[in-house]
Order: sequence, then C-alpha cells, then structure tokens
Amino acid sequence: MNKKKSISNPVQNGNTSALEKSGGASVLLIYTGGTIGMMQDAKSGQLKPFDFKQLTDQIPELQKFDIKLSSVSFEVPIDSSDMQPSVWVELVNIIKENYSKVDGFVILHGSDTMSFTASALSFMLENLNKPVILTGSQLPIGTIRTDGKENLITAIEIAGAKVNGKPVISEVCIYFEFQLYRGNRTHKFNAEHFKAFQSSNYPILAEAGVYIKYNQSALMPPNGLKLKTHTELNQNIVVLKLFPGITSTVVNAILDIKNLRAVVLETFGSGNCTTEPWFIKSLQKAIQKGVIILNVTQCNAGAVVQGKYATSAELNEIGVVSGNDITTEAAITKLMFLLGATKSTTAVEKLLKTNIRGEVTVL
Ligand code: ASP
Repeated sequence: MNKKKSISNPVQNGNTSALEKSGGASVLLIYTGGTIGMMQDAKSGQLKPFDFKQLTDQIPELQKFDIKLSSVSFEVPIDSSDMQPSVWVELVNIIKENYSKVDGFVILHGSDTMSFTASALSFMLENLNKPVILTGSQLPIGTIRTDGKENLITAIEIAGAKVNGKPVISEVCIYFEFQLYRGNRTHKFNAEHFKAFQSSNYPILAEAGVYIKYNQSALMPPNGLKLKTHTELNQNIVVLKLFPGITSTVVNAILDIKNLRAVVLETFGSGNCTTEPWFIKSLQKAIQKGVIILNVTQCNAGAVVQGKYATSAELNEIGVVSGNDITTEAAITKLMFLLGATKSTTAVEKLLKTNIRGEVTVL
C-alpha cells in the first residue's frame, strides 16, 4: 500500500449530503485518521484506521446539528505517528480551497502528533480569521466508553460558534476532554488519560460544561487580513536532548549532519547545560558555520532564562537563541516554517525571538 500517494489525494466523502443540515453555520470536517476512527483488527488485535463513512455512522448525533457539515477524508486514513510535513501541506491546501465556503474547520487527527500538526498549521496559515479545531480521542469511536463523541461534537460546535456574525475563534486550536487550547502551546502529556493534552505556559481558551465558556482575553483577536498560506517547509533540523553523560562523540556527530540548518537544544530547567569546554566549543563551531541553535527547556512548564545561572550564561555569549517558553513541538515547526520562508539566518533568529502566532511569550 502506498500510503503517501493516497494521503496526498484526499477525496470528497461520498456520504457528504447525508450529513448536511440547513441554517446555522457551516463546518468542514477533515478526516486524517487516528484512534477516533480506528477498529480492532480481528486477526492481529491491532488498532487500524477505518474509513470516514464508518466513523460518521457511529455518531448519529451529527444528523441533529443545526450546523451544515461537509467532509473531506484522506483516501487512506493514517495513524498520526505517520504524519509528515507533506500532509500538513495537503491540510493547508484543503483549508485554502474551502476557506471562503465554510465558517470553520474541524480536523480529526490522532493525538500522538496532534500538537505538532496544530503548531505547524498555525505557522502555515497566516492571517487566519476562522477556527481550525483539531480533535481526536483516546478510545475509538465505536467503543462504548469512547471520548471521541464528545470531543467531535463539541469541536464542531466551537468551529461553528459566532458572535454578531463573526467567528468566536480565529486561530488553530486543539479541543480535547472539555478543554480548548491554543494548538501551538500544547503538548501530549498522557498516553492513557482522556485528558491527554496540556498547555502549561498559556491559559485554556475555553472550557465546555453545560455552557462553553470562552476565556475572551486569551483568544487571538481576528486581524481581518486576507489568508496567506505558506507551504515551503525546511526539514533540515534536529532535536538534541541533553542528559548527564552525553558524549562529545554524540554531540559532534549531530552537529556535523550534512545540510543541518538548526538545532532545537533541549536543556535542563531554565535553559541550563553542562559547562564542559568541549560542549560550548562544539556549539560555537556549529553557530559559526551558520547553524541556528534554539534553546528550549526539557521541563513541561516554565521558560528558558539564559544567563540566570552561570551554566547558561555562556550560551548567550556564543549566540544560542533563547526559546523562552516555547514548546518543542512549536519550536520544531516554527523553524521548519521560517527556514522554508527565508535563507537569511539573521532573519530567522530575529523571528524566533518574535511572537508571530501566539506561540511564545515575549516580554
Ligand atoms: N496512535 C494514535 C494516533 O496518533 C493515537 C491516537 O489517536 O490517540 O494516530
């Protein structure tokens, strides 16, 4: 099976009209795969994605919405561990093609790499003035205790929510287990709880109970500008996670990778690293070659403060860029986007220090 070929060719789902309702808002569902649409294979017992028609058959509630639903489904749905930048480009193109036709978008996606996709889309969709809500589930939709139904139904409601004819949300979000998050602030932190995501450094955008309560002051205000899409992504980056005992052989092998453009350096605590001279020298050599080094913390919450401890002061001196409170997921995708958009190392470094889509706190 050629997954990539199928993925790059999403098809309009044959059952679209059965889902349509008149009146209210309109939302396009984009089905990429993930646990929400998986079934247990009878022979192997493994979870495998099944098609969109079977997914919507499991949720008769979708027929009751006063929201006009249409759908696009990948020909071969994927486990999100197979996610690729080329699929992000497909998603951006689907959103661009349908942008003027619908009020909002819901992307059904596996939870494993959902934070990466949400972060990537936030950078690739400049001047987004409509909601793009990613959701999925920890248990398949066909299982009795599934979390998928609530996630999907509320995500659709949020994607269709308007005030005075304008969408309430105008950014890329993740909706999961009663909470709406800014997508590029999230990370998956739990592999088995229904509450699988956290947004440690940014407040929750909305909470769903009897009412959906929006945290107005945390929402990205619409800017009214025309949508601009970016589809050039540069994948010549690497994540280097420090640990006590990491050897110079490993560090140098990574920094010597051919065509390497940037390193997301996962450091300890508030951006600290070993002060061993070989380490600082290796980083300095890479920076002099034009490799960008972005310092992010291994901690789930809090920020890098380069220079707070002596163990990070030297990073400032040699030109390592502080990632402040950005997540690793957002750091990786922001670098892919910036390096795809410009060849200038100085311009990329400047934009890394700038908050461009609500992904980082800049004081
Ligand atoms: N492995 C699945 C995926 O990411 C897990 C999930 O959907 O939650 O596609």
